[in-house]
Amino acid sequence: MNLFYKISSVISKFMYGRNGFDALGIAVFIFSFVLSIFRWIPLVGFVIWIIQTGLLGYVLFRILSRNVEARRAENLAFSGILGKIKNEFGNRKIRRESCGTHKFFRCPSCKNTLRVPKGKGKVYITCPKCGERFVKNT
Ligand SMILES: [Zn+2]
Repeated sequence: MNLFYKISSVISKFMYGRNGFDALGIAVFIFSFVLSIFRWIPLVGFVIWIIQTGLLGYVLFRILSRNVEARRAENLAFSGILGKIKNEFGNRKIRRESCGTHKFFRCPSCKNTLRVPKGKGKVYITCPKCGERFVKNT
C-alpha cells in the first residue's frame, strides 16, 4: 500500500457523510478569490481580508458539514438564483437582437413576457404559459 493510497483512503473516510465541495462552495470560493483584487487598498483591504476569512470559513464549514440535507437545500436555492440570472441575461440578449423586428408585452394575468412580430397591426395574443388572451397593437 503506497502513501498516496493511504492518504486518499483516510480523506475519503473522513469525508464520508459530509457535504464536500459543491457548486455553492466553488462559487463562494471563487468570489472570495476575486475579492483579492481590492486587498491593496488601505483599510478597505483589511475589511476585505475579514470578509475573505469569513467566506473561506463558510466554505470549509459547508465542506465538512454532516447536515448534508440542509447544505443540499442551500445549494439548490443557489442554483435556482443562478438560473434566474442566466435567464435574465438570455432574455436581454433576445430583446437586443429582436428590438427592430419584434415587440414585447407582459401577460396581464401571469406577467410572463411575450414576443410578438412588429408591424402586424392589431393582434390577438394567447399567453403560452397561462392561456390568457388579449389584444395588442404591434
Ligand atoms: Zn400568462
